[in-house]
Amino acid sequence: MQCNLLIRGGTVIDAAAGQNQIMDVAITGDRIVAVGESLEYHADQVIDASGLIVSPGLIDLHVHVYQHHIPISLNADELSIAGGVTTQLDAGSAGSYNFDGFRRDYIDRANTEVLGLVNLACTGLVAANLGELLDPRHSDPAGVVATIERHADVAVGVKIRAGAHIIGSGQQGWDHFLAAVAAARDSNTWLMIHIGECPMTLPEMMPHLQPGDCITHCFKGGSTTLLDENQHVFKEIKKAADDGIIFDVGHGFGSFHWDVVTACLDQDLLPNTISTDLHLKNVHGPVYDMPTTMSKFLMLGLSLTQVFEMSTLAPAKALGREAEIGTLKVGSRADIALFEMKTGEFTFTDSYQQVRSGSQRLQAVGTIQSGTLAPGWTQYKL
Ligand SMILES: [Zn+2]
Repeated sequence: MQCNLLIRGGTVIDAAAGQNQIMDVAITGDRIVAVGESLEYHADQVIDASGLIVSPGLIDLHVHVYQHHIPISLNADELSIAGGVTTQLDAGSAGSYNFDGFRRDYIDRANTEVLGLVNLACTGLVAANLGELLDPRHSDPAGVVATIERHADVAVGVKIRAGAHIIGSGQQGWDHFLAAVAAARDSNTWLMIHIGECPMTLPEMMPHLQPGDCITHCFKGGSTTLLDENQHVFKEIKKAADDGIIFDVGHGFGSFHWDVVTACLDQDLLPNTISTDLHLKNVHGPVYDMPTTMSKFLMLGLSLTQVFEMSTLAPAKALGREAEIGTLKVGSRADIALFEMKTGEFTFTDSYQQVRSGSQRLQAVGTIQSGTLAPGWTQYKL
């Protein structure tokens, strides 16, 4: 049999298929056509993946890639190749006033897949440093719904940054939070809430959420955390997790604290999805990329299978796209990543300048987007 691309002899980790074994993957066009041991295919191009991990392309559920318009944004295609990421969810860089431009200038032009959440603030994060919802006139729930209707294929949900210095305190904070919830319901999508130093407590927020809504920056430190004053996970948080609220890492510049994440893991509150919140202020550290963020969870004791599931299948499900991405099953889109597992002593830093060391570090060495191998593979082989 003939195929375009054959990835030979890598360790295939595909949570959707329950696979973690040495196999081949055959690709024709933009589809995976076969997965199995010692496939008998003739291929236009063969990748020798022996010694490497072969996984579905990673899905980063929290990035900022509205470059040149949002000051902190990065380039989606560069993040893709650097991190083995084939789908990125931009978390509210654009709002109702500028999502049309985001789509035209970036989503539609990127080689990698970019999806977006629409910010409750009409201007998105253009002037995020000023607090995009401190002026209540910037809240535009009706515009969010209309934007999602207009761009239903790529605008998949609603975003609010719920820190008091962003949405205001007291009743104004509540009004914005509830407007964001209503926009998610009215658009039949879901809400991602950036938790900061919030004007309400997390237990107060939870009853307003539905399965599929998402708390990002879930392991942040500071005054608003998943932990009560005794360092126990709030019972309302445990119930929310059981009910299907998604807890997303969103590592970020100031949102990942070793003490919080270890306390949560010790109490069986695991993240559903691993994401980076990559932007200009954390790409040179402490976040760097998805593989580094995944490696931190390996250091914390999660298994390779768990970490890959949280970075492929779980975010695919959060997006409702698990039939197409986040898996290597035959017929799915040929979005694939290759990784080398480096061993040695590596230092990992949280968002609060605290350093820990681990013995494993994942590094992306190849990215295949819709069946096309991104530049860099030849260089690696040299
Ligand atoms: Zn963010």
